[in-house]
Amino acid sequence: MKQIHINTATPAQPQSKVMIIYTGGTFGMAHDAKGVLVPFDFGLILEHLPALRNLSLNLTVISFDTPIDSSNIRPTHWQQIAQLIYEHHHLQDGFVVLHGTDTMAYTASALSFMLPGLQKPVVFTGAQLPISEPRSDARENLITSLEIAAAKMNGKARVPEVCIYFGDELLRGNRSKKVESMHFDAFQSENYPPLAKAGVKIDYHDAVILKPASGVELKIVSALNTSIAILKLFPGISDTSVEAITTIPGLKAIVMETFGAGNAPTSPSFLQILKTAIEQDILILNVSQCPGGMVVQGRYETSKDLQRIGVVSGGDMTTEAALTKLMVLLGIGQANLITSPLAGEMTNS
Ligand code: ASP
Repeated sequence: MKQIHINTATPAQPQSKVMIIYTGGTFGMAHDAKGVLVPFDFGLILEHLPALRNLSLNLTVISFDTPIDSSNIRPTHWQQIAQLIYEHHHLQDGFVVLHGTDTMAYTASALSFMLPGLQKPVVFTGAQLPISEPRSDARENLITSLEIAAAKMNGKARVPEVCIYFGDELLRGNRSKKVESMHFDAFQSENYPPLAKAGVKIDYHDAVILKPASGVELKIVSALNTSIAILKLFPGISDTSVEAITTIPGLKAIVMETFGAGNAPTSPSFLQILKTAIEQDILILNVSQCPGGMVVQGRYETSKDLQRIGVVSGGDMTTEAALTKLMVLLGIGQANLITSPLAGEMTNS
């Protein structure tokens, strides 16, 4: 990985230290001399963004050797990002991760579970338009993310959690979903309020920001188990399709996306396929296809049987949070913790 240092306050002493981890995505594209879009050279960031000088930061920029479109992100990349944060946690005031928007909610969710005991901000951001474009959202997203990563209250980090800053809102990472591929407000967190809103100033909503438990040290959990499938139900889904998923060799868990408040067909053959899978120790986690609200098994006739056969309620978790939490918990052999809130990803019901 390439590393550079930039003192935006030169010749004065910077006030805060922030590490930028550049993974790729639309954000970092700029036109080269021939007008072709190529990854942006971070050594030139002060020329692209002179406003950075007002932030007085000591920046360490670490770039992936080959910046990637986030559709190519894999758990090995999450492990690299987690390792960098873990190693530099005591040296930096905060971290900004520049990442493609397509899978940003998955990476942010994964990191929130891989770094228990986090005490510094990890702010994910990106852009819908490359930094080289005149109307790009990259500049505002980066500057505000840096300001949030450096923000302190009573000498401590103001937002000590993994979050996503995009289009004027700071959202909890493991509550976020990408909902928009064209407009600048690309992310939504239906089930949890924004942690901050940026306008003329940044308004922090301190009451909803996670507070690190006192005396807890940062740990890293990087053993991820990816033997998981997502089963999205739809009216008319065949038993053959469902069974093709539940019988995947080596499968450990299924995130089942159900209708509304956790409802599914009541057909005996469908339920029998799920029951057989559960009897073979496959964990089936029920999350809703609705971006807002929560699964309440037993509320309707159409979810009573799921509860009876041992499908586990995912409450108000997003699919992204459910999937990455399962990867982490299966990795450490503690899948039984799936219904416990670990990093603010679900409402304790
Ligand atoms: N395809 C791009 C990515 O996720 C889109 C973006 O960066 O917004 O890497």
